[in-house]
Amino acid sequence: MMAQQPNPAPPHASPPPGMVACGVCGTESRQPNFKPAMPEQAPDLDLRPGQPLRGSMARWLQQCPHCGYSAPEIAQAHPAAAQAVGAAHFRALLNDQSIPPLARRFLAWALILEETGALHASAEATLQAAWVADDLAKADFSRAWRREAVALWRSGPPLDAEQTVRVVDSLRRAGMHEDAEHTARRLLDTSPPEAVAQVLTLELRLIEARDERRHSVATALPPPARRPHVSHQPSVKRGEGIRAWLRRLFGRD
Ligand SMILES: [Zn+2]
Repeated sequence: MMAQQPNPAPPHASPPPGMVACGVCGTESRQPNFKPAMPEQAPDLDLRPGQPLRGSMARWLQQCPHCGYSAPEIAQAHPAAAQAVGAAHFRALLNDQSIPPLARRFLAWALILEETGALHASAEATLQAAWVADDLAKADFSRAWRREAVALWRSGPPLDAEQTVRVVDSLRRAGMHEDAEHTARRLLDTSPPEAVAQVLTLELRLIEARDERRHSVATALPPPARRPHVSHQPSVKRGEGIRAWLRRLFGRD
């Protein structure tokens, strides 16, 4: 992932303590020092984490106040990021006042990831923008960005069973019932792992009931099959990013 790329800035450019130098334009700014707290609640069916992590989205990404570059750590930038940040559609997104500012930040990160070819990571960031819209009760944005996330997931490499469940959930919550049902049944036909099959069974019930609300993984899985208790899970390493953390937590790749 691009956030792992080394910072192209020369070492003498180290900013003073508490300040971060943008990996794209070099501007120094004060950025949140995000120390994620372990979720104490089960995640949603689309793996949005439970509280307290759930409520900390305003601190998941940094954003350069000068060029608008957004990333988990803006000190690091993929070589293609500068080009992405300079593109007309990126500037248009930054200036689109109709989109809530926090959602714009996630969509900006999604655009940069898409530009670097990281389509699944871009889908993830787009889904996170939909979570911001959920919290603000902006249903039209929630649906539109879930559809975009699905399109990005499907334009990347083949998805594993757990990621396909997230596609099903995103389709359901975006009101794309037929596609959601078709995708769920096709995955069930492949005899997926038991936990995946249980979540798909719940998804099919929700789709049939035209239920577009969020539901917890805990609703789908009986207690023995639930995720191991949080105390057995690895804690979030500083700066590793929410996606890497989720990957470790749920064993996805
Ligand atoms: Zn910048």
